[in-house]
Amino acid sequence: MSTNAELFERAKLAIPGGVNSPVRAFGSVGGTPAFLVRAKGAHVTDAEGRDLVDLVASWGPAILGHAHPEVVEAVQDAAAHGLSFGASTPAEALLAEEVERRVGPVERLRLVSTGTEATMTAIRLARGATGRDLLVKFDGHYHGHSDGLLVAAGSGLATLAMPGSAGIPAAVAATTVVVPYNDRAAIEQLFAERGSEIAAIIVEAAAANMGLVEPDGDFNAFLARTAHAHGALLISDEVLTGFRVHRSGMWGIEQWTGDDAPDLLTFGKVIGGGMPLAALGGRRDLMELLAPLGPVYQAGTLSGNPVAVAAGLTTLRLATDDVYRRLDHAADVITGALTDALRAEGVAHAISRVGSLFSVAFRDGAPRNFDEVKAQDAFRYPPFFHAMLDAGVSLPPSVFEAWFVTAAHDEAALGRIVDALPGAARAAAAA
Ligand code: PMP
Repeated sequence: MSTNAELFERAKLAIPGGVNSPVRAFGSVGGTPAFLVRAKGAHVTDAEGRDLVDLVASWGPAILGHAHPEVVEAVQDAAAHGLSFGASTPAEALLAEEVERRVGPVERLRLVSTGTEATMTAIRLARGATGRDLLVKFDGHYHGHSDGLLVAAGSGLATLAMPGSAGIPAAVAATTVVVPYNDRAAIEQLFAERGSEIAAIIVEAAAANMGLVEPDGDFNAFLARTAHAHGALLISDEVLTGFRVHRSGMWGIEQWTGDDAPDLLTFGKVIGGGMPLAALGGRRDLMELLAPLGPVYQAGTLSGNPVAVAAGLTTLRLATDDVYRRLDHAADVITGALTDALRAEGVAHAISRVGSLFSVAFRDGAPRNFDEVKAQDAFRYPPFFHAMLDAGVSLPPSVFEAWFVTAAHDEAALGRIVDALPGAARAAAAA
């Protein structure tokens, strides 16, 4: 049996940094990442045979718990019929119909393979529909790693973006304007000055890639109204929140309709049930601008892959109201114990939460934007994280990530988390 450390060393000789997605390298918490070999329910098992209660849930998809037997069976059955055809299959429309039943503004849905592709295509569609180039995004929001979205704010209120990575042309970054989250005045000013150039605003339906930051009041509806008043569109990115915070995603919690509704929505994670599948959907007139009906091109060899569709469709069919009640209960138990433990140690903290999705910030008062998120005692997280890991609980390896529960977090799994928290709070206090 190889240890995690041996596996990491070997991986580093074959794969850049030893990982295929950067956060997995434990860069912000230090130490050796666990190499996972199995996952079942609320648990993952690493290569050393160690069982961990999991609060990452594959970054969201495992809403029913890992490897739910009915999902695995559906995947095995689909695989037995063929792994990929590059042709249409009957189940694709069933998945689209399921999403359209759940999410009112989705009249048509196109399946892709990753959230990155979904947002990239939604933006191309918005530009194609409006004939405008400028995109508005919020500081600290993540929408995947396509060039125009992997950008950073400059200094100032609403600024043309700077490349957020090497390899992104400044000219591409400059087609995006970055605005502080929850800042209505900045949006109003930007639209007053440049409204006729703006194709769309893209927003995480609830910000969850800088830890969780809740939209203030009717902020999402405000964005839709402002965009629409200037002939622009609102893209609501529900890759992370979709079918997780509510059976109908963040839209299900907010239920804005008419002029307040988002024009396009993007999905990922839960919609694929753990397989590579994502989607974009929205108003029929916009969606039908996509090829082959319209002039906006998009395609994919593995789009609508039958094995992935089987996993997604089965997951959504099993994600009943009872599942969402269990998710909420798990979040209630964990957030309650988390705040008790940190309060007992006198550690300044704020828990932000939407549905069952939550995160902790080591500061007084819930952050409202990225600057406030950064203004926290982030140094408390690595010792907190490692104390939880030593006690058998796998947390997201960064304070700037949300925690993900599953419907399989039963009382035993929750008990292990609750028991681990006081020690982790002591480690955070001692940092
Ligand atoms: N949008 C949001 C809101 C996300 O959270 C993510 C992934 N964390 C993406 C887009 C990109 O999805 P993917 O990693 O599947 O490309």
